[in-house]
Parts: sequence; structure tokens; C-alpha cells
Amino acid sequence: MPTVDTVTVRAPAKVNLHLGVGARRDDGFHDLTTVFHAISLFDEVTVSRSDALTVVVEGDGAADVPVDTSNLAARAVLALAEATGSTPDVAIHVRKGIPVAGGCAGGSADAAAALVGCDALWGLGLSRDELIEIAATLGSDVPFGLHGGTALGTGRGERLTSVLAAGTFSWVLALAEGGLSTPEVYGELDRLRVDGPVTVVSDPSDVLAALRQGSAVQLGKALSNDLQPAAVSLKPELRKLLAVGEDLGALGGVVSGSGPTVAFLGRDAAHATALAAALAGQGVCRTVRVAEGPALGARVVRSL
Ligand code: C5P
Repeated sequence: MPTVDTVTVRAPAKVNLHLGVGARRDDGFHDLTTVFHAISLFDEVTVSRSDALTVVVEGDGAADVPVDTSNLAARAVLALAEATGSTPDVAIHVRKGIPVAGGCAGGSADAAAALVGCDALWGLGLSRDELIEIAATLGSDVPFGLHGGTALGTGRGERLTSVLAAGTFSWVLALAEGGLSTPEVYGELDRLRVDGPVTVVSDPSDVLAALRQGSAVQLGKALSNDLQPAAVSLKPELRKLLAVGEDLGALGGVVSGSGPTVAFLGRDAAHATALAAALAGQGVCRTVRVAEGPALGARVVRSL
């Protein structure tokens, strides 16, 4: 096999169409029942042979992403090297298209991309399942970055089953000013649950039925996220953003993951574009993006 020196991988953002959060477990994580949906906002991660492990990040929000070994892509390279006896000397270059600290799994996408990239760079030929096993050690959303599409997530989010979804859905992502810390949002949810821990996690069947039928109207009504009240409590301006999006005709709106990005569903691509323009004019968010889902998981787009 010819040697490859540089591999570029594209990995998608996600929104949670349903996010049911159970009780905090002894390991600090919460049991989840979630429906992940990959959308067409991408980070591009390039890994190149080098004489040391280095990280460079460019794009919107890059200044807030660490470039040491706490960077999730660097951690992914180290974990894959450790698992396969490889040398982790690679230059990692991340081009951000996914909002940073936005609840869209941008860091997890970078980790998923780094795993796929180094698998190709080092000629390892690992299966998706083998990569997913390593991905689960890096973060709850990293396996889904590899999987892509639409999937039911259980455990802390790392156990995935593909979900039947007909057609494509058109989204508007409204990016709020600043980010939210995922552990803080989960902590706020525990604080708000004054009646004690939840024993029954909410059921995703309405979302699953809407996906099977490819019905945007039904899906808009079924969107739900148990973390939303906690994200709104920490960032009260999200309440206004959600209300404005629905007033402007979104079929539904939901905080994505731990937020603060809000995903609004349009009837189709043209409606989503019009909705994005109208939202941008309201001064209720920092910026808007239009995206389609489902999108593919982390994939090699170039190798040299
Ligand atoms: O797995 P990940 O690194 O994305 O998780 C970040 C933090 O979010 C965890 O340390 C935990 O505080 C919280 N979390 C949780 N339950 C989950 C996933 C994440 O409490 N299922």
C-alpha cells in the first residue's frame, strides 16, 4: 500500500431530537435515552506525519479551543496510538465549522475525525466498531460522530442503534452569544430537580414515529430536551430566542444538547433559509446557520 502523509476527514455536528435524562449515576454521568441526528455543519480535521504531536485550530471560536493534549482530537490520537502500539507524532489541523461550546458535539466531531484520519494515516484498517469502542473512552458523543445519520443513544449516550428515518430535514441553527459548559448544565438540571432524581426517563417514541414517516410537522411537535430548562436557567435569553423562532413559523425549536445553540425545524430548505434570514434580523442570537440532516459520520475527504 502506498504511504500516505496527510489525511483530511470531515465530521458532522449533531442535534438531539429527543434527550431524556435520568438520574446521576455513581460515575457522575447521567443515564440517557436520546435520538442523535447528524447535520451538515462540519469540522475538517487534517492529520499529517510529523515529528511531534501538535494542534492548530482555525475558524469561528478557535481561540476558545485548547491546543494542548486536552484537545479532544489530540486525546483521540493518543488513545488510538496507545490501543494499536503506534507513535502519536502527528500534526493536527482543525478547521471549525461547528459552533464551539454550542451543544452540537463539535469537540466530539474532531475526536471522531482524528480517529478516522489516523486509522488511514497509519494504515491500521480498524473496523467502525473497533473505532467506536475507542471513541466511547473519549466522550459520550464521540461514537455518534463516527456513526452519523440518525441513531438512538443509550447508556451515557455512547451505545448506539441506527434509527429508520425517511427523507431529509431542514434546520436553522441559532447560535447564542457565549457557550455553556456541559457539566454545569447537567449540574443545573440536578439542582432544578427538587423532587429528587428521575426514575423513568422520557420516551422517544413520538420522535421515532415522526422520523419513520418523514414528517417534518410531526417531528417539529415531538422535539424535546430534558436539559432545556437547565440551559434556559443558566442563559435566560434562550427563552426569548425559542419564542421568536416559533413565532416566525418554525415547525418546532429545541436547545441542542446542553446548549446554547437552538435548532429550529423548517418545512423544507427554502422555508429554513427564509426562517434563518428572519431570525438574523431579530437580534436574538449571535448568528444563524442553515443545515440539512441526516448527514454522514466522519469520512475521509482527501488523502495525499
Ligand atoms: O462525555 P462528555 O465528556 O461529553 O461529558 C462531559 C460532562 O457532561 C461529563 O463530565 C458529565 O458531567 C456530563 N454528562 C453527564 N451525563 C452524560 C453525558 C455527560 O452527566 N450522559
